[in-house]
Amino acid sequence: MFDVEKVREDFPILKRKIDGKPLVFLDSASTSQKPIQVINAIKEYYEMHNANPHRSLYKLCEEATELYENTRKKVAEFINAKHPEEIIFVRNTNEAMNLIAHSFALPKLHNPNEIILSVMEHHANIVPWQYVRDNNGASLKFIDIKKDGTLNLEQLNPNSNTKMVSLTNASNVLGTINPIKDIGKIAHENGSLFVVDGAQSVPHMPIDVQDIGCDFLAFSGHKMLAPMNIGVLYGRKELLEDMEPFMLGSDMIKEVTLEKATWNDVPWKFEAGTPNVEGAVGLSTAIDYLNDLGMDDVRKHEKEITAYALDKLSEIDGLKVYGPTAADMRGGVISFNLAGIHSHDLATILNDFGIAIRSGHHCCMPLMKRLGIPAAARASFYIYTTKYEIDALANALKRSKAVFSK
Ligand code: PLP
Repeated sequence: MFDVEKVREDFPILKRKIDGKPLVFLDSASTSQKPIQVINAIKEYYEMHNANPHRSLYKLCEEATELYENTRKKVAEFINAKHPEEIIFVRNTNEAMNLIAHSFALPKLHNPNEIILSVMEHHANIVPWQYVRDNNGASLKFIDIKKDGTLNLEQLNPNSNTKMVSLTNASNVLGTINPIKDIGKIAHENGSLFVVDGAQSVPHMPIDVQDIGCDFLAFSGHKMLAPMNIGVLYGRKELLEDMEPFMLGSDMIKEVTLEKATWNDVPWKFEAGTPNVEGAVGLSTAIDYLNDLGMDDVRKHEKEITAYALDKLSEIDGLKVYGPTAADMRGGVISFNLAGIHSHDLATILNDFGIAIRSGHHCCMPLMKRLGIPAAARASFYIYTTKYEIDALANALKRSKAVFSK
């Protein structure tokens, strides 16, 4: 039984006060807070097991290697990948997308090949493809959004030149959850690969890469209770085996002579240099934590909080919410603007109430332009978000409005 108060006890930071007021943390889409279990696992790693993995035969090195490689297996199970070798550790979603762009798209796609994206993408799923376009002549097509903030899938329409469709599973601004299984099917029927940006879905709902049928999935550990600088690129094994590495040096090498080098097997071929074992240890514990809660219940909790928040925010005159109106079509993210108050001003005032929200363009400048706004405020939720925090947000927004109308 999901008990949010019990969950909150595991997060030391949630006991913090901001200028004497209880912290109301509503910025989990940027990065999540960390439970004590993750913090302790990292501490124990440094107190007991720290060594550079894969490099020697002494006990600590074996332990560090085992911790690192066991996390790979755990991540594979978490997203139902067929093989642990399909899990490549990167720093974050941005790096995962760059890896696909440099190791797959740059060498393999050319004019007149096409990559399909959408206007709701985070810069992480736009800029690497613009680099590909500018360096190999492939073209980009952007699917628009409809009035309700869902994708206009009539524009998907891949043709024989479409070699890649890369879309977000859930928008970090609109909250929209895209029908990625259906989109993947359409992409594959036309011989295109399907890349999914899972930054805002993997932490929040059950994700099964075999069921979705995607070829690549990218996500970040820091948005799912783990530390920063550990992220994941899932890729189908046959594809990864056929790709050249993006970064070169140390662990990704099989043999070097003065003339040449040969590459290690997948996945290590893509992991140059000393890896982030501390991050992997944290990610492993984070996955245990989420599995103990159950990803179905995580999603259920966030849907309930989102529905409650949509309702509360709709009571505020002059407040405009972007994206779908129904909570079951959304992740736990609500972006909004309030009656002529710039979102940065709003975030500053809310900080005086101890409330942390994000403001700005959310690394989605093309989407801001499409919505015809310079910026938006955003409240985002996770396993520790409560209805009384949503009440605090709604009350503070009403008070902010009063301040500005004076
Ligand atoms: N994609 C989406 C949808 C996101 O929301 C984010 C971060 O907010 C990213 C990609 C980039 O994640 P990271 O900064 O961890 O690389």
